[in-house]
Amino acid sequence: MEIDELKATGVQVNYLMVCPRKLWLHSHQIGFEEENDLVLQGKVLHDTSYKKIKDKEILLDDLLKIDILDGQYVGEVKSSRKMEEADKAQLLYYLYVLEQRGIRRKGKIHYPKERKVVEIELTDEKRKEIPKWLAQIEAIKRSTKPPKKVKYKYCSKCAYYSFCWVGEDE
Ligand code: SF4
Repeated sequence: MEIDELKATGVQVNYLMVCPRKLWLHSHQIGFEEENDLVLQGKVLHDTSYKKIKDKEILLDDLLKIDILDGQYVGEVKSSRKMEEADKAQLLYYLYVLEQRGIRRKGKIHYPKERKVVEIELTDEKRKEIPKWLAQIEAIKRSTKPPKKVKYKYCSKCAYYSFCWVGEDE
């Protein structure tokens, strides 16, 4: 896929891995996220962590908001490792888009509350996989109905929990 065809945001890649229904709700601007404590917590964390790093929060074509571009690494700051696979996918996507623009970097995911940094690298396998993620995101966004609910262990922490589950038979 060429760079001009890329339409997904980093958050959409993250949500694809977390829950396709969440991706659909978010992309159709059904919004509860501003009110959610965990989302607010994440925003506060972004505002207070890594103040010393200058190049933080770089916006690339309104698609990607890169937290840190530091030397040979692109960094993301996350509040906990509970969604580590989704965090990795989001950062791999950033590395992929940057590489399409001739910028090769490795990635670091910072979990400051857990004092942990996870390093990742874009592999050939992931280079082949990422266009498939983008096709999946496009299909979900275009769908007129949200994907069916699936009860995940993290649903109760999701901003859409009440939309999906309150008053429903679980
Ligand atoms: S509550 Fe669960 S099923 Fe609903 S959007 Fe969130 S993660 Fe997906």
